[in-house]
Amino acid sequence: MPAKLINGRAVADAVLDDVRQAVDARKASGLPPPGLAVILVGDDPASQTYVGSKRRTCDKLGLVSEAHDLPANASEDALLALIDRCNANAAIHGILVQLPLPAHINATRVIERIDPAKDVDGFHPYNIGRLAQRMPALRPCTPFGVMRLLASIGESGRGKHAVVVGRSAILGKPMAMMLLEANATVTICHSRTRNLPELVKQADIVVGAVGKPEFIKADWIKDGAVVVDAGFHPEKCGDIELTPLVDRVSAYTPVPGGVGPMTINTLIFQTLQSG
Ligand code: NAP
Repeated sequence: MPAKLINGRAVADAVLDDVRQAVDARKASGLPPPGLAVILVGDDPASQTYVGSKRRTCDKLGLVSEAHDLPANASEDALLALIDRCNANAAIHGILVQLPLPAHINATRVIERIDPAKDVDGFHPYNIGRLAQRMPALRPCTPFGVMRLLASIGESGRGKHAVVVGRSAILGKPMAMMLLEANATVTICHSRTRNLPELVKQADIVVGAVGKPEFIKADWIKDGAVVVDAGFHPEKCGDIELTPLVDRVSAYTPVPGGVGPMTINTLIFQTLQSG
Protein backbone atom coordinates (compact mmCIF):
# COMPACT_ATOMS: atom_id res chain seq x y z
CA MET A 1 0.00 0.00 0.00
CA PRO A 2 1.43 3.45 -0.85
CA ALA A 3 2.42 5.57 2.14
CA LYS A 4 0.17 8.35 3.35
CA LEU A 5 1.53 11.75 2.52
CA ILE A 6 1.05 13.95 5.58
CA ASN A 7 -0.15 17.18 4.02
CA GLY A 8 1.24 19.93 6.24
CA ARG A 9 -0.35 22.71 4.20
CA ALA A 10 -3.85 21.24 4.62
CA VAL A 11 -3.41 20.67 8.37
CA ALA A 12 -1.92 24.16 8.78
CA ASP A 13 -4.87 25.68 6.88
CA ALA A 14 -7.28 23.88 9.21
CA VAL A 15 -5.46 25.38 12.21
CA LEU A 16 -5.80 28.85 10.67
CA ASP A 17 -9.52 28.33 9.98
CA ASP A 18 -10.00 27.56 13.68
CA VAL A 19 -8.00 30.67 14.61
CA ARG A 20 -10.01 32.85 12.19
CA GLN A 21 -13.29 31.68 13.68
CA ALA A 22 -12.07 32.18 17.24
CA VAL A 23 -10.80 35.69 16.43
CA ASP A 24 -14.16 36.59 14.83
CA ALA A 25 -16.05 35.23 17.86
CA ARG A 26 -13.78 37.19 20.16
CA LYS A 27 -14.39 40.43 18.29
CA ALA A 28 -18.15 39.75 18.12
CA SER A 29 -18.22 39.50 21.91
CA GLY A 30 -16.57 42.92 22.21
CA LEU A 31 -13.09 41.72 23.17
CA PRO A 32 -10.06 43.26 21.44
CA PRO A 33 -8.23 41.08 18.88
CA PRO A 34 -5.19 39.13 20.09
CA GLY A 35 -1.95 41.05 19.57
CA LEU A 36 1.47 39.73 18.59
CA ALA A 37 4.66 41.78 18.91
CA VAL A 38 7.22 40.62 16.35
CA ILE A 39 10.73 41.81 17.13
CA LEU A 40 13.48 41.65 14.55
CA VAL A 41 17.05 42.76 15.23
CA GLY A 42 19.22 43.37 12.17
CA ASP A 43 18.64 42.66 8.50
CA ASP A 44 19.31 38.95 8.01
CA PRO A 45 17.36 38.13 4.80
CA ALA A 46 16.07 34.73 6.04
CA SER A 47 14.86 36.29 9.31
CA GLN A 48 13.18 39.13 7.36
CA THR A 49 11.32 36.53 5.27
CA TYR A 50 10.14 34.59 8.37
CA VAL A 51 9.08 37.75 10.16
CA GLY A 52 7.27 39.11 7.09
CA SER A 53 5.34 35.89 6.75
CA LYS A 54 4.32 35.94 10.44
CA ARG A 55 3.12 39.52 10.16
CA ARG A 56 1.13 38.83 6.98
CA THR A 57 -0.55 35.80 8.55
CA CYS A 58 -1.60 37.92 11.55
CA ASP A 59 -3.05 40.61 9.26
CA LYS A 60 -4.98 38.01 7.23
CA LEU A 61 -6.59 36.62 10.36
CA GLY A 62 -7.48 39.90 12.02
CA LEU A 63 -4.86 39.71 14.77
CA VAL A 64 -2.95 42.86 15.63
CA SER A 65 0.69 42.53 14.65
CA GLU A 66 3.07 45.09 16.12
CA ALA A 67 6.33 45.33 14.19
CA HIS A 68 9.54 46.27 16.01
CA ASP A 69 12.55 46.40 13.72
CA LEU A 70 15.78 47.24 15.53
CA PRO A 71 19.10 47.92 13.79
CA ALA A 72 21.79 45.20 13.88
CA ASN A 73 23.82 47.30 16.33
CA ALA A 74 20.94 47.78 18.79
CA SER A 75 22.11 47.19 22.35
CA GLU A 76 20.94 44.30 24.49
CA ASP A 77 19.59 46.84 27.00
CA ALA A 78 17.45 48.46 24.28
CA LEU A 79 16.02 45.07 23.34
CA LEU A 80 15.33 44.15 26.97
CA ALA A 81 13.61 47.52 27.52
CA LEU A 82 11.40 46.88 24.46
CA ILE A 83 10.48 43.44 25.81
CA ASP A 84 9.59 45.04 29.16
CA ARG A 85 7.24 47.44 27.36
CA CYS A 86 5.60 44.58 25.45
CA ASN A 87 5.26 42.57 28.67
CA ALA A 88 3.43 45.51 30.26
CA ASN A 89 1.20 46.20 27.24
CA ALA A 90 -2.22 44.58 27.78
CA ALA A 91 -2.96 44.72 24.03
CA ILE A 92 -0.03 42.39 23.34
CA HIS A 93 -0.67 38.72 24.09
CA GLY A 94 2.32 37.17 22.36
CA ILE A 95 5.94 38.27 21.96
CA LEU A 96 8.17 36.81 19.32
CA VAL A 97 11.86 37.65 19.14
CA GLN A 98 13.19 36.34 15.84
CA LEU A 99 16.30 34.18 16.29
CA PRO A 100 19.20 34.16 15.71
CA LEU A 101 20.14 37.42 17.40
CA PRO A 102 23.37 39.30 16.62
CA ALA A 103 26.39 37.86 18.48
CA HIS A 104 26.65 40.78 20.94
CA ILE A 105 23.20 39.99 22.37
CA ASN A 106 22.73 37.18 24.88
CA ALA A 107 19.77 35.19 23.52
CA THR A 108 19.20 33.37 26.82
CA ARG A 109 18.83 36.65 28.74
CA VAL A 110 16.45 37.92 26.06
CA ILE A 111 14.22 34.83 26.09
CA GLU A 112 14.16 34.79 29.88
CA ARG A 113 12.97 38.42 29.90
CA ILE A 114 9.75 37.58 28.02
CA ASP A 115 6.73 37.10 30.27
CA PRO A 116 6.23 33.28 30.12
CA ALA A 117 2.49 33.87 29.57
CA LYS A 118 3.36 35.79 26.36
CA ASP A 119 6.13 33.43 25.22
CA VAL A 120 4.25 32.14 22.17
CA ASP A 121 7.42 30.57 20.75
CA GLY A 122 7.49 28.35 23.86
CA PHE A 123 11.24 28.78 24.42
CA HIS A 124 11.19 30.29 27.93
CA PRO A 125 12.67 27.93 30.57
CA TYR A 126 9.36 28.14 32.46
CA ASN A 127 7.45 26.76 29.49
CA ILE A 128 10.12 24.14 28.74
CA GLY A 129 10.00 23.15 32.43
CA ARG A 130 6.20 22.83 32.31
CA LEU A 131 6.56 20.56 29.29
CA ALA A 132 9.19 18.45 31.08
CA GLN A 133 6.82 18.10 34.04
CA ARG A 134 3.98 16.99 31.76
CA MET A 135 2.02 20.15 32.53
CA PRO A 136 2.50 21.96 29.21
CA ALA A 137 1.54 25.61 28.87
CA LEU A 138 2.92 27.35 25.75
CA ARG A 139 5.00 24.90 23.67
CA PRO A 140 7.77 25.21 21.09
CA CYS A 141 5.88 25.61 17.82
CA THR A 142 7.66 23.24 15.42
CA PRO A 143 7.42 20.09 17.58
CA PHE A 144 3.87 21.05 18.63
CA GLY A 145 3.06 21.30 14.91
CA VAL A 146 4.56 17.82 14.39
CA MET A 147 2.25 16.40 17.08
CA ARG A 148 -0.72 17.86 15.20
CA LEU A 149 0.51 16.33 11.96
CA LEU A 150 0.75 12.93 13.65
CA ALA A 151 -2.75 13.38 15.07
CA SER A 152 -4.02 14.19 11.56
CA ILE A 153 -3.19 10.63 10.46
CA GLY A 154 -4.52 9.10 13.67
CA GLU A 155 -1.04 8.48 15.09
CA SER A 156 -1.14 9.10 18.84
CA GLY A 157 2.38 7.78 19.48
CA ARG A 158 1.15 5.64 22.36
CA GLY A 159 3.33 2.57 22.90
CA LYS A 160 5.38 3.32 19.79
CA HIS A 161 9.16 3.59 19.71
CA ALA A 162 9.99 7.11 18.52
CA VAL A 163 13.56 7.97 17.57
CA VAL A 164 14.34 11.69 17.41
CA VAL A 165 17.62 12.56 15.70
CA GLY A 166 18.68 15.95 17.09
CA ARG A 167 18.48 17.44 20.58
CA SER A 168 18.34 21.20 20.09
CA ALA A 169 16.47 23.20 22.73
CA ILE A 170 13.92 24.48 20.20
CA LEU A 171 13.27 21.29 18.26
CA GLY A 172 14.77 17.88 19.08
CA LYS A 173 14.50 17.98 22.88
CA PRO A 174 10.96 19.39 23.13
CA MET A 175 9.94 17.01 20.33
CA ALA A 176 11.14 14.10 22.46
CA MET A 177 9.30 15.48 25.51
CA MET A 178 6.04 15.80 23.55
CA LEU A 179 6.32 12.26 22.22
CA LEU A 180 7.01 11.05 25.75
CA GLU A 181 3.98 12.98 26.97
CA ALA A 182 2.03 11.12 24.27
CA ASN A 183 3.22 7.79 25.81
CA ALA A 184 5.74 6.87 23.13
CA THR A 185 9.01 5.23 24.18
CA VAL A 186 11.58 7.78 23.06
CA THR A 187 15.21 7.56 22.03
CA ILE A 188 17.05 10.86 21.50
CA CYS A 189 20.09 10.77 19.22
CA HIS A 190 22.76 13.41 18.72
CA SER A 191 26.23 13.92 17.32
CA ARG A 192 27.87 11.67 19.94
CA THR A 193 25.39 8.80 19.51
CA ARG A 194 26.97 5.47 18.58
CA ASN A 195 25.32 3.08 16.10
CA LEU A 196 22.86 5.69 14.85
CA PRO A 197 21.64 3.57 11.88
CA GLU A 198 20.88 0.65 14.26
CA LEU A 199 18.86 2.89 16.56
CA VAL A 200 16.93 4.48 13.70
CA LYS A 201 16.13 0.98 12.36
CA GLN A 202 14.20 0.26 15.57
CA ALA A 203 11.89 3.26 15.16
CA ASP A 204 8.16 3.11 14.57
CA ILE A 205 8.29 6.90 14.31
CA VAL A 206 11.45 8.68 13.08
CA VAL A 207 11.89 12.43 13.46
CA GLY A 208 14.71 14.08 11.53
CA ALA A 209 15.89 17.24 13.33
CA VAL A 210 19.58 17.30 12.42
CA GLY A 211 20.00 20.23 10.06
CA LYS A 212 22.00 18.26 7.45
CA PRO A 213 20.56 17.52 4.00
CA GLU A 214 19.40 13.88 3.64
CA PHE A 215 21.66 12.85 6.51
CA ILE A 216 19.32 10.04 7.65
CA LYS A 217 19.53 7.36 4.97
CA ALA A 218 16.51 5.54 3.58
CA ASP A 219 18.00 2.12 4.37
CA TRP A 220 18.17 3.01 8.09
CA ILE A 221 14.38 3.17 8.24
CA LYS A 222 12.22 0.08 8.66
CA ASP A 223 9.20 -0.77 6.53
CA GLY A 224 5.94 0.66 7.86
CA ALA A 225 7.55 3.42 9.94
CA VAL A 226 6.08 6.94 10.19
CA VAL A 227 8.66 9.41 8.93
CA VAL A 228 8.68 13.05 10.01
CA ASP A 229 11.24 15.38 8.51
CA ALA A 230 11.65 18.71 10.29
CA GLY A 231 14.69 19.71 8.28
CA PHE A 232 14.61 22.17 5.44
CA HIS A 233 17.48 22.99 3.12
CA PRO A 234 17.91 25.37 0.15
CA GLU A 235 18.13 22.38 -2.21
CA LYS A 236 14.47 21.74 -1.20
CA CYS A 237 15.13 18.55 0.73
CA GLY A 238 15.00 17.72 4.40
CA ASP A 239 17.19 15.77 6.81
CA ILE A 240 15.90 12.38 5.62
CA GLU A 241 16.56 10.65 2.31
CA LEU A 242 12.89 10.45 1.41
CA THR A 243 12.48 9.42 -2.23
CA PRO A 244 13.39 5.71 -1.84
CA LEU A 245 11.11 5.45 1.20
CA VAL A 246 7.72 6.59 0.00
CA ASP A 247 6.55 3.15 -1.14
CA ARG A 248 7.48 1.25 1.99
CA VAL A 249 6.79 3.49 5.00
CA SER A 250 3.29 3.97 6.37
CA ALA A 251 3.30 7.79 6.31
CA TYR A 252 5.74 10.62 5.71
CA THR A 253 5.95 14.40 5.71
CA PRO A 254 7.09 15.83 2.36
CA VAL A 255 9.71 18.57 2.13
CA PRO A 256 8.55 21.21 1.43
CA GLY A 257 4.91 21.14 2.49
CA GLY A 258 5.15 18.94 5.59
CA VAL A 259 6.42 20.28 8.91
CA GLY A 260 7.33 23.75 7.59
CA PRO A 261 3.83 25.22 7.17
CA MET A 262 2.87 24.18 10.71
CA THR A 263 5.31 26.37 12.61
CA ILE A 264 3.86 29.82 11.88
CA ASN A 265 0.29 28.64 12.26
CA THR A 266 1.04 27.03 15.60
CA LEU A 267 2.58 30.32 16.72
CA ILE A 268 -0.57 32.21 15.76
CA PHE A 269 -2.70 29.56 17.49
CA GLN A 270 -0.69 30.03 20.69
CA THR A 271 -1.07 33.82 20.45
CA LEU A 272 -4.81 33.32 20.38
CA GLN A 273 -4.60 31.00 23.39
CA SER A 274 -2.65 33.64 25.33
CA GLY A 275 -5.18 36.34 24.46
P1 NAP B 1 20.64 22.49 15.55
O1 NAP B 1 20.43 23.41 16.68
O2 NAP B 1 21.84 22.66 14.68
O3 NAP B 1 20.65 21.00 16.14
C1 NAP B 1 21.03 19.92 15.34
C2 NAP B 1 21.03 18.65 16.16
O4 NAP B 1 21.47 17.59 15.32
C3 NAP B 1 21.97 18.72 17.35
O5 NAP B 1 21.34 18.19 18.49
C4 NAP B 1 23.15 17.85 16.92
O6 NAP B 1 23.75 17.12 17.97
C5 NAP B 1 22.47 16.87 15.98
N1 NAP B 1 23.46 16.33 15.05
C6 NAP B 1 24.35 17.03 14.31
N2 NAP B 1 25.15 16.18 13.63
C7 NAP B 1 24.75 14.93 13.96
C8 NAP B 1 25.20 13.63 13.61
N3 NAP B 1 26.24 13.46 12.79
N4 NAP B 1 24.55 12.57 14.13
C9 NAP B 1 23.51 12.73 14.97
N5 NAP B 1 23.04 13.95 15.36
C10 NAP B 1 23.66 15.03 14.86
O7 NAP B 1 19.41 22.49 14.55
P2 NAP B 1 17.83 22.74 14.85
O8 NAP B 1 17.58 24.18 15.09
O9 NAP B 1 17.33 21.75 15.82
O10 NAP B 1 17.25 22.42 13.40
C11 NAP B 1 17.34 21.15 12.82
C12 NAP B 1 16.69 21.18 11.43
O11 NAP B 1 15.32 21.52 11.57
C13 NAP B 1 17.27 22.25 10.49
O12 NAP B 1 17.23 21.73 9.15
C14 NAP B 1 16.31 23.41 10.61
O13 NAP B 1 16.27 24.19 9.42
C15 NAP B 1 15.01 22.68 10.81
N6 NAP B 1 14.01 23.47 11.54
C16 NAP B 1 12.82 23.65 10.93
C17 NAP B 1 11.84 24.38 11.57
C18 NAP B 1 10.54 24.56 10.87
O14 NAP B 1 9.85 25.53 11.08
N7 NAP B 1 10.16 23.61 10.05
C19 NAP B 1 12.06 24.95 12.81
C20 NAP B 1 13.29 24.72 13.45
C21 NAP B 1 14.26 23.98 12.78
P3 NAP B 1 24.59 17.83 19.18
O15 NAP B 1 23.56 18.36 20.11
O16 NAP B 1 25.38 16.72 19.75
O17 NAP B 1 25.41 18.90 18.55
